[in-house]
This record gives sequence, C-alpha cells and structure tokens, in this order.
Amino acid sequence: MYAQVVVDISNDAVDRVFDYTAIENTQLGMRVLVPFAGRKVLGYVVGMSQTSAFDPSKIKPIIKNLESVPKLKPEILKLVDFMAAHFFLRLSDCIKLVIPSCVRLDTQKEKFNFSLQLLSDLDTAINIIGKRAKSQLAAVSFLSEQGEVDYTKLVNLFGRTAVNTLIQKGVVIKNSNRQMRAPDFDSEKVEKHTLTPSQAQAVSTITDKNATFLLQGVTGSGKTEVYMSIIENALKQNKTAIMLVPEISLTPQMMQRFNNRFPGLVAVLHSGLSEGERFDEWDRIFSGEARVVLGARSAVFAPVENVGVIIIDEEHDGSYVSETNPRYITHDIAIWRARYNMCPLILGSATPSLESFKKAQSGEYTLVTLPNRISGNIMPPIEIIDMLGEVMDGNTTPYSRKLLNGLTNCINNKKQAILFINRRGFASFMICRKCGYRAKCDDCEVSLVYHKEDNELKCHFCGKRYRALTNCPNCNSTDIKYGALGTERVCNDLKKLYPNVPIFRMDNDTTRGKNGHKNILSQFAASTPSILVGTQMIAKGHDYPNVAFVGILDADVSLYNSDYKSNERTFQLVTQVAGRAGRKNNDGYVVLQTYAPKHYVYRFASNYDYLGFYDKEINLRKTTNFPPFTNILRILVSSESDNRAIEVTKKLFDLTKTLKSKYPNQIIFLQAMPSPVKRIQKKYRYQILTRYQPNEQITADFYKICDVIEKDVSIFIELNPNNLR
Ligand code: ADP
Ligand code: ZN
Ligand code: ZN
Repeated sequence: MYAQVVVDISNDAVDRVFDYTAIENTQLGMRVLVPFAGRKVLGYVVGMSQTSAFDPSKIKPIIKNLESVPKLKPEILKLVDFMAAHFFLRLSDCIKLVIPSCVRLDTQKEKFNFSLQLLSDLDTAINIIGKRAKSQLAAVSFLSEQGEVDYTKLVNLFGRTAVNTLIQKGVVIKNSNRQMRAPDFDSEKVEKHTLTPSQAQAVSTITDKNATFLLQGVTGSGKTEVYMSIIENALKQNKTAIMLVPEISLTPQMMQRFNNRFPGLVAVLHSGLSEGERFDEWDRIFSGEARVVLGARSAVFAPVENVGVIIIDEEHDGSYVSETNPRYITHDIAIWRARYNMCPLILGSATPSLESFKKAQSGEYTLVTLPNRISGNIMPPIEIIDMLGEVMDGNTTPYSRKLLNGLTNCINNKKQAILFINRRGFASFMICRKCGYRAKCDDCEVSLVYHKEDNELKCHFCGKRYRALTNCPNCNSTDIKYGALGTERVCNDLKKLYPNVPIFRMDNDTTRGKNGHKNILSQFAASTPSILVGTQMIAKGHDYPNVAFVGILDADVSLYNSDYKSNERTFQLVTQVAGRAGRKNNDGYVVLQTYAPKHYVYRFASNYDYLGFYDKEINLRKTTNFPPFTNILRILVSSESDNRAIEVTKKLFDLTKTLKSKYPNQIIFLQAMPSPVKRIQKKYRYQILTRYQPNEQITADFYKICDVIEKDVSIFIELNPNNLR
C-alpha cells in the first residue's frame, strides 16, 4: 500500500502530496513521521492507494505512525481539499487550521490523577506488612476506613516511601483516572421555555432541511431558544451540532444556557481556553462524548460527525472572516459542511449582512423571520441628538442634556444603564496646541492614545507604551490638547456625576485574564442601579432584563471609518447596542449622539427599519459597483524597507495590469497606493486594490500573480476584506 502524505512544512515548493510506502496499521488521516530531504518530518496521510505513479524503488517507507486512531476524519480531509482550492491555501496550512496545535504537535497530553485502594481486607494487609512498619499500617487502616483515596493525599498524610512500598508489595492498587480540564460554567438554572408560535414555526421550517436559512429576528426575539430547539431535535436523532458565536468568551451567558440545556454534551472551543482545556475539549468532541460544539469561528472545524445542524449566530459579525493567513471565510466552510452532512445551516442575526440578505432575496437562502420581541415588548425608542445643536445651546461637554436626563431617570428608577463608546483609553490623541506636534508611535503611522490610569500613551496597533506628555517635546509648550473621549474618560466623568452608583468598564484594557469579561458582567448584572461603559464588546448578545437605558455617545466613530462597509457596520452596531435596552420590562430608552443627525443610517436604525436601510444601501452598492455586486480584492505588500515594498508593489501592479487587459470589461477598478495606515509594526504598507465582476477565474489569476516569494517582503491577498486599514 502507498500513502499520500502532506508534509508539515509551510512552503509553496512542497505544497503537494508525496508518496510513501505504508507500514503496518498506517491509515487514512493519520499523523505520521516521514523521511523528507534528509530529515524526519511530521506528515499527514491524506490518501491511500494500491499503486503509485512514481518509481516504486525510489519510494521510501513511513518511519512511524504517530497515532493508532487517525486524528483527521474523512469529512475533515475532504474539507481540507475544498479549502485549499477555494481559498487558495496550502494543504499543510489548512491542516493546521483543522486540528489545534496542542493536538497536532503533541504539546499536551491527557491528564490523569491517581487514586489508591486496598486490594484485600485489612487483616490480610496487616499480615503482609508486618508489625513494625507504622506508617504503612496507619495508611492501610486509613484506606480501609475511606475506601478510595487520592494518591497525593495519601502521600501527604503518610509519606511517599510508605505509600510506594504498599504499592510494590501489592497491598494497595493504584488506579489512574482521566481528569478532564474543562472551562467552568455558571451553574445557575435556566428554564426551558414553551416556544411562541413564531419560534415554533421557525423550528419546524428549519429542522431536518438540507438548506441554508437566514433567521432574521429582532433583538430579544428569542433566537437562542430556536437554535436550542433545533439542536435538541438533532440530538434526538443521534446527530451532533455546531453553534458559532462571535467571541464566545464575551458571552458567558450563552455557555451557561447551553450547558444547562444539554448537560454533559457541550464542548466549547475559543481562544480563552488554556492549552490543556483546549486539548481535552477537542478530545471530548473527537471521541463523540461532546455532541454540541459551542465556539468562535475556528469551531467550524470541530471533528464532530453526523452533523445535524450548524448555526452561525450574529452572522454579520466581522470576526467570521479571519484577518491573518491562512485566511478563510467561516460561512463558506459552514455551507460546505452543512451540504456534506445534508443538514440545515442557520445564519442568525437581527441585522444580517447585506450579502446574506441579498442571497435570501434571490432565493439562495431561505428567509425565516421573528419580527417581534418575546412577550410582544416594543423596540426601545431611539432618540437622535444633534451634538452641534448642543454646542449652539452652550453645552460643550460630550454629554447631551437628554443623555444625562435619561441616565439620571434610569438610576432613580433603580435600573441599569449601558453607555457605548467605541474607543478605549482616555483620549484618542495628544497634540501640542502651539506647534501642532502630535504624539505618534515610533513603529506605526498612528496617533498614540492617552491612558490616564497608567499615565501612559499607548499604540493601539502594536501595543507599544510611551510616557505621557506634560509638555511638548518639540516646543516645550504645556498647552496640550486631548483628543476625542474614550471609555476611561467616560467612567471618570460619570464617577463625578454619580458618586454613589457602581460603574463598570468593559473594554480590552479591563478584560484581560481568564474570566475578565465574566467578572465584570456578573458584577454589573448583580447591581441595581449600575452603569456599564464599554466598547463594541457590550453590543453582543447580552440579555440583562434590568437594562432600561442605553446611551450611544459617539455613533459617528464607525460611520466615518470611510470604507464601503461603514454604513452597514454603523447600522448594525446601533441596532445591536440599542437592542440591549428594555428586553424584559418594556421600559427601554435609547439616546444616540451624532454630528450627522440626518444621516439615513441613523434614520433607518432609529426606526428599526432594516428593509428600508437594506434597499437604500444595496442600491448604493449597485450604482457604485461595490460588493456584493463586485469583488474587492486587496493585495497588501509590506516590508521594513520602504523601497522594497514600493518595488514589489510596482512589480505586482504591472502584472495585474495585464489582467486588466485580459478582462477589460469585468475589471472595473485597479489602482496601487499606500495603505490608509502607512506603517504598522515597523513595516511600510502599500496596496493594490481592484474591483471586478465576481468571477472565480479572475480571482485565481490575481492569486497566481501574487504566488511569488520576495525577500523581506510579505504579500497578503484578501478577497472582500472587512477592514481596509
Ligand atoms: P435574541 O437572541 O433573539 O436577542 P434571546 O434568545 O436572548 O433573544 O431571548 C430573549 C429573552 O427571551 C431571553 O431572556 C429568553 O430566555 C427569553 N425567551 C426566549 N424564548 C422564550 C419563550 N418562548 N418564552 C418566554 N421567554 C422566552
Ligand atoms: Zn509644541
Ligand atoms: Zn505602534
């Protein structure tokens, strides 16, 4: 037998399968050790055959099988092939995505603890030990009283020598028990609800269908309950389920609900796990013990078999597209797996991406809607405040009068408030009023953000820290101007305004550490009144019944991000944040502050008019030739050497121009330019941007052009990137 092996080397030159002779027990999907260019290299068996196209005398045997049960299951092997072709990736890079590195590289093992037990009755044991060994005698009588005792505990009580002698004499037996390292769930009980008619309708429409559904349900419409019912139906048929959530670590509530509903069957996979936890959770899925996988985007690769449903919750979220190499789009993989398993894929959201909604309109997806909140609560009214008007009226603070009124009312009513500002730190920049000096990062072409708590300036792109300025390094003036406010400043101000109210801050700075998010959220949930100030991480999925007021301090932050998706993203963000208010008690009220009060994004968002927004925005995309009507492809060239980056950009640009002549009608736009952020982490960045009628051949041609190795320069291609910085 021959084995076709992909070697674990990230290099285009070896990105193909090599034939080896199989040894005893070599099986499809196994990790193996193979001789390769004079070295021993990790490889993966991706095929087995009776014959080989190569000269059999030159084919070397596999050195060793690295496991007895193949870690790559047949479905996953096929998925790897699909991904390599569909996303233009190397096979070995795809394999790295589908098995976590702690499993792939054996950097983690199963964890065992040991317990001890008497092998005979006490009298027999005493006879064997004899009268003089006091510690041993004490240990056996303890064991006879207690039954099974933890090894370490017994050692601590009676000494290692005594315990080990007992084992050697065969008086006691050492049992090893696998100990699973599991992320802890809150154990609070959550009741199972009777489905409302529209939930029941959604469940019956979706269950068992081999199709993709767009489940559009307003915030608080009970989408999670629909997911759980469909999963329950799948489990009843002995099937499994995958549920993806953006940044699952932000939503401990979701984990709790799932674990409650499917005790013992849920495994979670996300970046917040320790390596040991990840190893064990993956193993529980692999072995079939866990049948519901809850996780961030990489959980789409979970080794579950016989999948009964795949769910992508908050499907519009940017985190479903990876921004680094190997780049993949979670939706495409989920669709592939759903079709492979002939099961439903559910894309859920209150604010679907334009792309998905367009597919629902064209019939490619089936649209299922939950138009109302559970218990028929109205959507919380959103009041738009013109901040320029505030200034005209003499209020130059960042807080409008209506916002402060709303907040004060909420607190007086012993309710909770959420304030949203999508900027962390105290102030977005520091500049000298006299000479215009601006504090910038040495390694990145961006302003430094002032963090008052640490009295430091920080680069939000590379993390580098600098001393805060008291006077200008250029002209020595002390007249320093602070930039736009961030979460830290808001908390600071609120503490002065509401000295007796607990105020919590949730952003990347306050949520470090394992249970960072959970701790803040549970403290917030437990205090009334209270205020939670946060970045977009507070927008997602939280369901707290006592939140009555939501303030959006500076909605324009994302609106003027100036890429083609900023309208869409702002609409989604406003709707999601507003959706945290009045979920249970019908007492929600939202204030949205902006300098562009007439902007249609705010008009539609404040009326909860998704369709209105969709129509307007999709027409705009159509007339301006932007996705989903075209593809945007960006080639990002970066290097520590500015000259080299320019050189390679020019070279690639010349090559792409030949494509422009090859596809004169399809390629609408092609230009080379510096990236919006010209330098990050010491690397100069240039880009070639192109837009063209969606066409796989053109995409493939662009990838082909970029399939070159340039010394000291990295070339990264993104199709329809979420972020164009
Ligand atoms: P969404 O994900 O659509 O924003 P959730 O699934 O969080 O909404 O549901 C909102 C709230 O309604 C939750 O507290 C949930 O427990 C509750 N809920 C969901 N379905 C029902 C139901 N059929 N009956 C009563 N309460 C429900
Ligand atoms: Zn100055
Ligand atoms: Zn930096």
